[in-house]
Amino acid sequence: MARLGSWIESHPEGIYVRPADAWIDPSKPKDRAWITHGHGDHARGGHGAVLATRETLAIMDVRYGPQSGQPIAYDERLRVGDVDVRFVPAGHVLGSAQIVMEHKGEKVVVSGDYKRRPDPTCACFVPVPCDIFITEATFGLPVFRHPETGSEIDRLLHRLHADPSRCVLVGAYALGKAQRIITESRARNHHDPIYFHGAMERLNQLYESFGVELGELRHTGAATKQEMAGHIVIAPPGALNDRWSRRLPDPVTAMASGWMRIRQRARQRNVELPLIISDHADWDELTMTIRELEPTEVWITHGREEALKHWCMTHQIKACELNLVGYEDEDD
Ligand SMILES: [Zn+2]
Ligand SMILES: [Zn+2]
Repeated sequence: MARLGSWIESHPEGIYVRPADAWIDPSKPKDRAWITHGHGDHARGGHGAVLATRETLAIMDVRYGPQSGQPIAYDERLRVGDVDVRFVPAGHVLGSAQIVMEHKGEKVVVSGDYKRRPDPTCACFVPVPCDIFITEATFGLPVFRHPETGSEIDRLLHRLHADPSRCVLVGAYALGKAQRIITESRARNHHDPIYFHGAMERLNQLYESFGVELGELRHTGAATKQEMAGHIVIAPPGALNDRWSRRLPDPVTAMASGWMRIRQRARQRNVELPLIISDHADWDELTMTIRELEPTEVWITHGREEALKHWCMTHQIKACELNLVGYEDEDD
């Protein structure tokens, strides 16, 4: 009998689904690409035909200009070549999807990036039992356990209210994390205007066009120092220590990332208020998901593979790593 999943090939530049002649999240331009979500390390420009959710295609349009994309709705079933394919929510960012494929009686799920905790800006992860689960492992070490999002947002608001003469500058990934911080703050009754770095404007608008309400937002470029005192300012992580931040009123520098669990990382970036908020599954979410799906095999795409591989073996699940290149979740 053929090896399980022998119709799926792992290449450094991505996962190739042979009977559909399609690549998943390839790092190089391909004729046919299936894209899990809009982050730059998964969705790149220059492909021939792109299959992705409407939201992901819209994000790619913003980043790379108009795509020759075919939208697929969650749970819509398509047959491509000799493969039945559907996209189901991954709970990572707006429009993010796992790709579920069936071929000759074998079911394979490619998770893309995912998380299990609720996020008001996107649909919740849907568990699909399968024979092979191809998973990320960005935070695949037992040391990574993300706290409750609400308690991290409370720390942010508490710090903000402690000194109304300063602002709190939050470094947050421009796609997903920023909008999540905003909506989670609104859910905790913070309805003051939130200021944003110009680089986030189009993605904020895109989220709102898909019905994610962000409340009153203001561009930092149009505000005085005084106006921003006592307010939250959100910027991409790269802007935290750059010249741009000099226009802000004595900022308390915060950063929202799963990596903030590591004190040294916070120190390196001069982060005074580390917020452990991630759009990736932590160790418990990874292992809980594998337990729930009960796959025969787990293939690990990127991240810290070793510990998760070992965990799988001790739970009688065959596991291997795929050594794909080009995925980076450094600020997530
Ligand atoms: Zn991602
Ligand atoms: Zn990623």
